[in-house]
Amino acid sequence: MQVRLHVQRSDPVTGETRLQLFELELPREATLLDCLEQIKDEVDGTLAFRRSCREGICGSCAVRIDGRTALACRTPVAELVAEGHAPTIAPIGNLPVVRDLVVEMEPMWQKMRAVEPFLRPGPDCGLDGRETPIPSARLDAVRKESLCINCGACVSECDAMTVSPEFLGPHALVKAWRLVGDPRDDAVAPRLKGLSGEHGIWECTRCYLCNERCPKGVDPRDAIAKLGAEAIAARIDRDRGARHAKWFVTSARTTGWLRESELVVRTLGLAFSFAKIPLALRLFRRGKAPLPLPRHRARDLAPARELRHIVAGQDRRGALGIVQGERALERIDFICSPEQPVGEDEP
Ligand code: SF4
Ligand code: SF4
Repeated sequence: MQVRLHVQRSDPVTGETRLQLFELELPREATLLDCLEQIKDEVDGTLAFRRSCREGICGSCAVRIDGRTALACRTPVAELVAEGHAPTIAPIGNLPVVRDLVVEMEPMWQKMRAVEPFLRPGPDCGLDGRETPIPSARLDAVRKESLCINCGACVSECDAMTVSPEFLGPHALVKAWRLVGDPRDDAVAPRLKGLSGEHGIWECTRCYLCNERCPKGVDPRDAIAKLGAEAIAARIDRDRGARHAKWFVTSARTTGWLRESELVVRTLGLAFSFAKIPLALRLFRRGKAPLPLPRHRARDLAPARELRHIVAGQDRRGALGIVQGERALERIDFICSPEQPVGEDEP
C-alpha cells in the first residue's frame, strides 16, 4: 500500500516548524505507528516521537491526525489514506512541543499532582491491613475512570484549556473523581471545595470533545459532571458555575425553558450583571437575546416535570444523577405509567 503523509517537524534550536512529506510502502494492515517507525528506521532517523507498548496500553503515542487526537498504534493507516488523502500528523495540543511529535508532559503531571490523586483512607478503611470490601455498585461509579492510561488525548482536545491554561483540565479531573467517588476516601469535602474554585470543575465548557476522543472510553466530561453533582449535593455551590447549573434546572422545571436573560443575573449576581447592561441591550437590539419579561413559559409543562419526577423517583442524587451525554437515555429507566403522579407542588 502506498502511503503519503505530512509530519510536523519542529527544531527546538532554531524554533522552526514545517511540514515534511513522506512517501512510504507498507502492508494494508499497518498502523500509523508503523509508518512513523518506518520513517525513523529507513528514511529519516532524526524524526522524534514517543511509543512504548504498541498495544494501546501505555498511552505514549498520542498524536493529532488532521487535527483529531488519537493513538498512533490504534489507527489503521489504510483508513487515513483512502482516496489518496495525505494526512497531517502533528503533536498533541495544549502542551509545549519539545521536538517534532514529542511534547513536554510535565504541565499535565503537575495538574494531576495538584488534585492529590492518592487515597486518604478513613478510620475504618483497612488500616489494620485487612481488605476493605466495596459493593460492586459503588465501584461502578469510578470504573470507567480507572481505565485512564494518561495519554493526554483529552488534554489535547480541550478548548477550555487552550483559552485558560490554568484550568485543571479533563485528565486531572478524571483522577480527582477517581478519589472523590471512592467510598474509602476520607477527604471528599476538602477535595470538592478545592476543585470547585477558580480553574476547577466549573471551567469546563461541556464541549464533550474529551469524551469523543478518549481512546479508552473514560468519558472525562462525565467524571467532571459527577464532581459537579457531588459538589452541589454537598452544598459546595457558591461558584458561578454551580449557580449556573442550579438555575438551569430551576428554569427548566418552572417554565420548561432556559430563560437566558435571568440566567445571567442568577449566575453572575446583580452587581456584575448591572455592568453588562450595555452588552445586553446590544444583544436585544440584534435579536440575540430575549427580553426577560414577559416570562417565556412552555405551553405544556407536564413532560419536563414528568421527566424530573422519573429521575427523582430513582433516587439519583449526586454522581448517580449524572445521566447526560450521548448515552443518557440508556441510563434512565423509563418506567413511567400514566397513573404516575406529576408533582402538584411546582410554582
Ligand atoms: S482520560 Fe482518556 S484521553 Fe484523557 S488521559 Fe486518560 S485515557 Fe487519555
Ligand atoms: S468537555 Fe470540558 S474538559 Fe472536556 S474537552 Fe470540553 S471543555 Fe475540556
